[in-house]
This record gives sequence, structure tokens and C-alpha cells, in this order.
Amino acid sequence: MIIASNFKTNHTSTSTLQYVKELSSFLQKEDLKKHQVYVFPPATAFNFFELPHNLKIGAQNAYPVISGSFTGEIGLEQLSEYNIKSIIIGHSERRHILNESNELILKKFEFFKENRFDIIYCIGEPKEIRDKGLDAVIEYNFAQLDGIDLNYERLIVAYEPVWAIGTGVSATLEQIDQTLTSLRKKVKASLLYGGSVKVENTKDILSIKNCDGVLVGTASWDVENFKQMVKIAHEL
Ligand code: PEP
Repeated sequence: MIIASNFKTNHTSTSTLQYVKELSSFLQKEDLKKHQVYVFPPATAFNFFELPHNLKIGAQNAYPVISGSFTGEIGLEQLSEYNIKSIIIGHSERRHILNESNELILKKFEFFKENRFDIIYCIGEPKEIRDKGLDAVIEYNFAQLDGIDLNYERLIVAYEPVWAIGTGVSATLEQIDQTLTSLRKKVKASLLYGGSVKVENTKDILSIKNCDGVLVGTASWDVENFKQMVKIAHEL
């Protein structure tokens, strides 16, 4: 299973250090070798962490350059200093709030693929598409995969319906199941679900046939909750 935490614009450098220490000692104590855990803190919280083998720290975003004149952005040089080799690309908050274009998303994918990053590539439909029914949902999600090398061996695809992110209302188990089943026909890579995953629904979501893990925002910011989720994954 893959269990990933997206801090978004939460936690400081100090609190992230505390979080990662706590999570690392938990992952070392339990026999959790089969599971891959990711934490995506804000870039200001990157650090020289001591990590167990199954915990990776990743970037929520970066610009597809080694270095250069891109004010406010970070590139490969800044990530490499902290040995960061994982990144989220295509998150709906970047697509919809920050107006990130498909063209830039594809550029990021190509650049970080060339640099052998683990890429959590996010797709997901807005509410008006979900309201049109499953066929429209599948068409929309497939279109977001256009141009992505689905054979890239470090690719992880996260299905995150926009209307379920940060709203406290997860997609139903049936909606997740149907969507992941359709995606599975096209995608060999691990498939995650994200969108208001909480301790209470983690077990049911992770029990869905084509669900290989979860990408969690809000509920993961508390390390105790996140540890619970990893434990639930382990107990399945
Ligand atoms: C996310 O940010 O990817 C996410 C799924 O957020 P939340 O769990 O808060 O819905």
C-alpha cells in the first residue's frame, strides 16, 4: 500500500521536523516494510531528515528546471540538496486555484520523469462533470492522462475528485470503485484515491479492489491520525 500525506500550506519547519521524527520512529518500530509512505511538506520545511527506508519526503510542486530565473519557484538544484526525489504533479489546487496549464503540467511530468522522480500524478473531475454521470467522469479523467507516459515505472496516479478535496465529503465507495476500475483498464501504475480520506473511512477505501493507497490532505496533518491510517493499511 502507498500512504501519502500532503501538508499543502500547513506546518512549519519545526513542526514538520517533529512530525517526521515521530512518524519515522513509528515506521521503524512496526513491521511495515511492505508499505511506502510519503510526506509532502511545504518547501520551507525541507530538512536533512533521517528517514527509514519506507518513508520518502517529496515536493508538492517545483518548476521544471535545474535552476534559473523563475522568481518564487524552486528547481531541481534546491530539491537535490535535500535528496528529494518525489513530487506531486497536477494537484487540483494547482490546476484550479493557481491556474496551472496542462502544458506546464506536461513539462513538469517530462522533466521530473527524466530526473527519475517518483511522480504522484493527480487527476480528478469537478462537480459539474460528476453530475453528468460516470461516462463523463471517465472521459474527463482519461483526458487528463493524455500526454503522460503511463509506462513510466515511477508513476503513481492519484484519482482525486475536485469536489471531494478538503470538503469533508469523500466520494462514495461505489464512485471510487467504478472510477478506479475504469482507470485500471488504461493504467498499470499504482492507483491512489484522495479526497476527504479520514481515519474512519480509510479501511473501506483501501479495501476497494483497484485501490493501491491513499493521498491524504487535511486528516494527515495530525501525525497520530496519519499513523493510524498507516496502521489500518497494514492490518488489511
Ligand atoms: C489532497 O490535498 O490531495 C487531499 C486529498 O486533501 P483532503 O484529504 O483534505 O481532501
